[in-house]
Amino acid sequence: MGAIRLLPSAVADRIAAGEVVERPASVVKELVENALDAGARRIAVALDGGGVERIAVEDDGVGIAAEDLPLAVERHATSKLADERLVEIATLGFRGEALPSIGAVARLSLVSRPRNAAEGAEITVEAGVKGSVRPAAAGFGTRVVVRDLFFCTPARLKFLRSPRAETEAALAATRRLALVHPEVAFRITVDGREVLALAAGDPFRRMTDLLGEEMARHAVALAAERGKLRLAGWVGPPSLTRATQADQHLAVNRRPVTDRLLRTALRVAYGDAIAVGRHPVALLALDVPAEAVDVNVHPAKAEVRFRDAEAVRGFVISAVREALNAGRLVAPVPRHPPSFRFASPRGSAPALAEAPALPLSAPPAARPAPAPVPGLADHPLGAARAQLLGTWILAETADGALILVDQHAAAERIRHEALKRSLATEAGVAKQALLIPAVVELSPARAEVVLARAGTLARLGLVVEPFGGAVLVRAVPAPLTGCDAAALVRDLAEELVESGESRAIESRLDAVLARMACHGSIRAGRRLSEAEMNALLRALEATPNAGTCSHGRPTWIRLEAADLERLFGRR
Ligand code: ADP
Ligand code: MG
Repeated sequence: MGAIRLLPSAVADRIAAGEVVERPASVVKELVENALDAGARRIAVALDGGGVERIAVEDDGVGIAAEDLPLAVERHATSKLADERLVEIATLGFRGEALPSIGAVARLSLVSRPRNAAEGAEITVEAGVKGSVRPAAAGFGTRVVVRDLFFCTPARLKFLRSPRAETEAALAATRRLALVHPEVAFRITVDGREVLALAAGDPFRRMTDLLGEEMARHAVALAAERGKLRLAGWVGPPSLTRATQADQHLAVNRRPVTDRLLRTALRVAYGDAIAVGRHPVALLALDVPAEAVDVNVHPAKAEVRFRDAEAVRGFVISAVREALNAGRLVAPVPRHPPSFRFASPRGSAPALAEAPALPLSAPPAARPAPAPVPGLADHPLGAARAQLLGTWILAETADGALILVDQHAAAERIRHEALKRSLATEAGVAKQALLIPAVVELSPARAEVVLARAGTLARLGLVVEPFGGAVLVRAVPAPLTGCDAAALVRDLAEELVESGESRAIESRLDAVLARMACHGSIRAGRRLSEAEMNALLRALEATPNAGTCSHGRPTWIRLEAADLERLFGRR
């Protein structure tokens, strides 16, 4: 980096306009980016009071010369643009907007000491008013302290969520940057308590630290190249999914992005190996030539624009697909015989109460009426005849049709409706006490989010209480007896963190119930007895909205005798 200089106004005007500072997380993101741009090897982040009271970011990077401090807090002053074309941007920052924007809405202190300086210097900005540069005690590097965020723009405070939610968002922003900068050590403290300490290490170690052991054990490594595009990282197996996209970490030229194009490409690559509404876990770094991407399209720089979007999309899809196939995680053969493809409504997600009709019906030709099957008179889904591949129930109806049931989807819908019905009663959802309470380790922020909703969760049949830093589960909803309580709580924590506001759980009860319903005991792959299969069919008939599961996939389809005959060319 050279000296800090003011951008000519013509360049400044082309900088994507917009608020840089929306919430504490955006302050943390900008300050950590600055530290990374300064070549720091160690970065310490401290948050107090959700980041509104105080945010401090300290680094051991190159520092800022005392005489440059006033310029650093000036609008459109940056040391990072080599030329004025706003292309070939190699640093995370380039607009010279973060420090002045933060100084405009808070009390900012910037203390810095470059390697060659005998002592440090400090400058302060309060509500946009710059102080003078003064000597200050400091080690090598830079320390930025932001106090009383939005104290002079109280209207902005109203848009903030609870301190807990703001803290979680700030942590997420730091984790995103830490994932693609494994060579830098990070230490994060929240209200004086250390919540994360990451040693500098290799990318795999960093992924393990941040995405967890399970991902590290089952992830498929990926390294692909096409022309000047390079993609590297890890993708999770289809069996490891999340309720939200929060664990899809994508970076373009080492800049974390939440780019739609890349997320869609990832989803497409997994195809129907994962359920609708679930999201794969991934850590992927895309490298493209600097001139092939425009990073100056979004105020928070979270989105980018590719010059050749189609090429990027195609490359990402095929690279991820190949990696998954090589890892033998996607069945190499189609999951349905080709002749059944047209009959599989997967993906079109019909929201009807009825199972989708097959596009096969033709006027019935004259043929003998099927012989009635004894004992099936009143059962539209018929009698179970077999279980196929541990996944499908095959049934035969009195009027001579064949019914195929997705046992997992059906069981999920039945549980979802049962949960809904019991929630509507005064007592709420019945509880099933656990003989041995389950201890669930969560990040402190997630544990707090879950415990803060303990009252509502109890009404849903889930009884949790604090247990050291962890969460103790005493009872699970009765319709979910036998489920993995820890997995259920982790999944709900993710849902709650994502939906944020404390009121949100009330308005999202149905989504929470749907999520709970996924955690029942009948999973695809379990062998069912004939009695169990018939019980499932009867329960399905008695359930409202039974035609689709909670994710909108069909739970059963009906094949008429005529459809079967046509498949065999007999009609
Ligand atoms: P930008 O990062 O877009 O250049 P900022 O307002 O974030 O704009 O920072 C302004 C300038 O202050 C930077 O260009 C850089 O020269 C200097 N600076 C900011 N933070 C640091 C830091 N942690 N270490 C060294 N220099 C910094
Ligand atoms: Mg910056």
